[in-house]
Amino acid sequence: MTDRKSELAANLAAVEERIAAACAAAGRPREEVTLIVVTKTYPASDVRLLHELGVRHVAENRDQDAAPKAAACADLDLTWHFVGQLQTNKVRSVVGYADVVQSVDRLKLVSSLSAAAEKEGRELGCLIQVALDAESGERGDRGGVAPDGVEELAAAVDAAPGLRLAGLMTVAPLAGEYAGRQRAAFDRLMDLSTVLRATRPAANMVSAGMSADLEEAVAAGATHVRVGTAVLGVRPKLG
Ligand SMILES: *Cc1c(COP(=O)(O)O)cnc(C)c1O
Repeated sequence: MTDRKSELAANLAAVEERIAAACAAAGRPREEVTLIVVTKTYPASDVRLLHELGVRHVAENRDQDAAPKAAACADLDLTWHFVGQLQTNKVRSVVGYADVVQSVDRLKLVSSLSAAAEKEGRELGCLIQVALDAESGERGDRGGVAPDGVEELAAAVDAAPGLRLAGLMTVAPLAGEYAGRQRAAFDRLMDLSTVLRATRPAANMVSAGMSADLEEAVAAGATHVRVGTAVLGVRPKLG
């Protein structure tokens, strides 16, 4: 193994151990939680090594970085998740490689994603991103719709050709009533998921938890954790 591959293997093993321990502590089967490795800022060669090590879900947050990387890895059986704030002028590109967009947070994005998915003749999974610190009717600084905006967006995705409502996503807020209270934030997301699933049982993905707080997310009931730093290392600061 190359040095980089051994490093990634050791990091992956440590993350796997954390997920397994969190599942055990919560009395949940390990298979209920899917690890998504966030490969943003890291090269396609790392994605390839991760695939060799068994990773099948990767996530990116910037189209400029993701599009060439996905193209360089098109031969691999990977599920690509887009998790960043998405401008409508990037939608066509993102729909070219993403299987799931986790950051759906406004009606205009729903119509734009729908048009692009239809044009590509494919079905795109969509998660509604919830900003737990956003005021009613507003969006979060890092994207996401306020909790009371979820239903309107869910109905729009339901009605949009080419899109499949898959569930909810959040990033633990840095400010507001949930600052520093990851478990409470993820419990709130689960409550919103319960409401959503009452009428849409298939929209059962709950994407929450990153390197620092994956245990809290698993304890709350997350089905997907998004881990970058703990697998790939500390990212160089983005300019
Ligand atoms: C970068 C990122 C992650 C991963 O964060 P780490 O702290 O590096 O694990 C997860 N989710 C989103 C939306 C991200 O942008």
